[in-house]
Amino acid sequence: MPTYRTASEEATIRLGEELARTLPRQRAVLLIGNLGAGKTTMAKGIVHGLGAAGPDEVSSPTFTLIHEYGQAGRVYHIDLYRLDEPREVATLGLDEIFDREAVVLIEWGERFPQLMPPQRTEIRIRTIGDDEREIEVSEVS
Ligand code: ADP
Ligand code: MG
Repeated sequence: MPTYRTASEEATIRLGEELARTLPRQRAVLLIGNLGAGKTTMAKGIVHGLGAAGPDEVSSPTFTLIHEYGQAGRVYHIDLYRLDEPREVATLGLDEIFDREAVVLIEWGERFPQLMPPQRTEIRIRTIGDDEREIEVSEVS
């Protein structure tokens, strides 16, 4: 499975832009890593790489839970950090979003594995140092 290293926020955004080109039009992408690892930063790159919005237009959906970018909802960015129970997540109607022809980026989705599509891309981000991150991409099906 491909593993990358980045040494700055900008480098992670650029990697996200590159990874965006490898994604199918319809795909769930779990962004996995600790608080501050760079999940939202990676989302900025992917959203930009898909041409849905500029990286500066992408903000964390921690409180809003779901952001939508691009025409006809081409990219969704979801953050489940503030939800604790599967039944709370169920009220978001994620299945309907997963059925759309869209890339769906999800932070903290691994906490609710039974609610995630079995076919998905997982991007794991580990903090190595202040600005260094190890980023591992895998396809799950
Ligand atoms: P998360 O969504 O995982 O909680 P964010 O993307 O919101 O994390 O924040 C990542 C933080 O780490 C930002 O403050 C960013 O500037 C910093 N950072 C430092 N080095 C990197 C790197 N190589 N890649 C991504 N973010 C980095
Ligand atoms: Mg985040």
